[in-house]
Amino acid sequence: MDDQFEYVNCLICGKDDTEVFVRGKGPARIVKCRNDGLLYLNPRPASIRVRDFHTEYVRNDNLDMFTLFRREVLRREADTIKSMKSGGNLLDIGCATGTFFENFIGPTWHLYGVETSPLGVELARSRYGVEVFCGTLREVGYPSAFFDVVTILDTLYYLPDPRAELMEIKRVLKDEGVLAIEIPGLTYTLLRDRGPVCWALDGKWSRMSTDSWHLYYFSQSTLSLLLSSVGFRVVKAIPEQSSLGRRGVARTLNDLHFALARLLFKATAGRFSIAGKELYLATKMK
Ligand SMILES: [Zn+2]
Repeated sequence: MDDQFEYVNCLICGKDDTEVFVRGKGPARIVKCRNDGLLYLNPRPASIRVRDFHTEYVRNDNLDMFTLFRREVLRREADTIKSMKSGGNLLDIGCATGTFFENFIGPTWHLYGVETSPLGVELARSRYGVEVFCGTLREVGYPSAFFDVVTILDTLYYLPDPRAELMEIKRVLKDEGVLAIEIPGLTYTLLRDRGPVCWALDGKWSRMSTDSWHLYYFSQSTLSLLLSSVGFRVVKAIPEQSSLGRRGVARTLNDLHFALARLLFKATAGRFSIAGKELYLATKMK
């Protein structure tokens, strides 16, 4: 086995009982756990390579991805959080260039960020004056029960060990604190990245790649299982819109899709989501 790759057991059940879900050209596979349905990359790029990828994630040539394309979604997500908490210490993990902080400027919030890309750290600090640590959450060592809100937006599935990350979040979050997690919608990903929709938009039958840094593909069910195994309970799930990068017809389709996703989500009381992104709000179990 190439030492550029490593094998891992299922994050939820700890076992190695899977079937191949997507087979790629290289050694990596997307596999599905037979016990709980978790989809994950296995084998996957070795942790050291994942760290290199994270360090170079924010670059001068992709800044729009973290600012322009995300601003509207992040504003809505911030509004949801502000409806639950009126102020306090807020930590954004994987804050990139800090766009999310725009929504919390003022005397009631004390803002903290964690980001592995030096360019992201530099921009978040200079634009918003936020205390941003360059590295990972577990390297910082924040005091216990320090944060009122911890957010990890469009980031959890890139991490080699989401369980360890969630345990550290639980330690630094106050007992009454709120955890907000944004992930790509799994149903959307499977509809969009394979089959006729993919062919119509990208001219190929599948763009679900095993040559990827996307280590986990959480669903509402597998994310809830993981959260509850760490001691969190999901209190709210909200459909969100995928990145707003494309213009013209693609943007109109994105808006229409989001409107339909919201309708379906509401009509099925959150049981069925085709949204591009999903926001989960969780609190500590008592
Ligand atoms: Zn499993």
